[in-house]
Amino acid sequence: MQQPLLQIKNLTISYTLRGRKLLPVEAVSLGFRQGCITALIGESGCGKSTLTAGILGTLAANSRIAPGAQMLFNGTDLLTLSPEAMRRFRWQRASMVFQAAQNALSPTLRIEEQLIDTLLDHQAMSLPEARLRARERLGQVRLEADRVLQAFPHQLSGGMRQRVLIAMALLMEPELILLDEPTTALDVITQRYIFDILRAIHTDLGTTLILITHDLAAAAELADEVVVMYAGRIMEQSPAHVFFHEPVHPYSQGLLRALPTLVGDTQQREPIAGHPPDLSDKPSGCVFHPRCPIAESICREKIPVLAPAGESYVACHLRTEQPQ
Ligand code: SF4
Repeated sequence: MQQPLLQIKNLTISYTLRGRKLLPVEAVSLGFRQGCITALIGESGCGKSTLTAGILGTLAANSRIAPGAQMLFNGTDLLTLSPEAMRRFRWQRASMVFQAAQNALSPTLRIEEQLIDTLLDHQAMSLPEARLRARERLGQVRLEADRVLQAFPHQLSGGMRQRVLIAMALLMEPELILLDEPTTALDVITQRYIFDILRAIHTDLGTTLILITHDLAAAAELADEVVVMYAGRIMEQSPAHVFFHEPVHPYSQGLLRALPTLVGDTQQREPIAGHPPDLSDKPSGCVFHPRCPIAESICREKIPVLAPAGESYVACHLRTEQPQ
């Protein structure tokens, strides 16, 4: 079993919006294993993006991390790093691939300038070394360097721009890459091609990947492990083969039942009743209880914590032995 590259302990992130205090991440304790592809999944607004920003130290100015949290990256607590050390961490040890590549790249600079500026800004190297590194990284994402380096972003297809962003994330050979919906808005064939590239990067370089997505098909395609978030809390952490065949948490089961099927009645799907809660006014006890088909009275009274259930960790009173 690989050790966690990143171990998050008791992380709560709040922010204030128009006088209301929101809790998009609450009491999260979670490990991301070294060399593993983890899909962090959940509906929009479940806290995935805030958790990601917390990991990279890019939270909005009105956010606050509650005392008592730790975020251990290979043993170093990221929450104790200075802003400058965190800036170095962001490119050299962990990087991010954003969705909507068109917006993430500068429209007025050629790809070569964007890659080289990033390299020279973060690593001591000569211009020829930076040029060579940029070419190598484009090769790793199967792009023709001669053509792409001289192009402006608008001269590339959506799939090519997304691959440029992956090349950019690889520039400093980070141990961890976070990918935020990396294939949203791409056609299915391009999506598969990008998944192939990500798998090759993971296999060849041993990079740990965190795929942040609401797309279960993308998670099924790539992930070794699945973490399910709901209303700022972790509901389940399971090996992918368990999650997609025998999910344990009622919310995970609901997510899978809501997917359209490819065989039999293709219209048959069963959306989860109700809506995710307001993050400034969450339900008591288990945050999922108003939508849970098997909720009992304890679910309204007590918050369940992640506890073992076979190969999984699950926060549910009825599916795990909860500590007294
Ligand atoms: Fe449903 Fe209760 Fe489990 Fe929450 S704790 S998921 S409400 S059974």
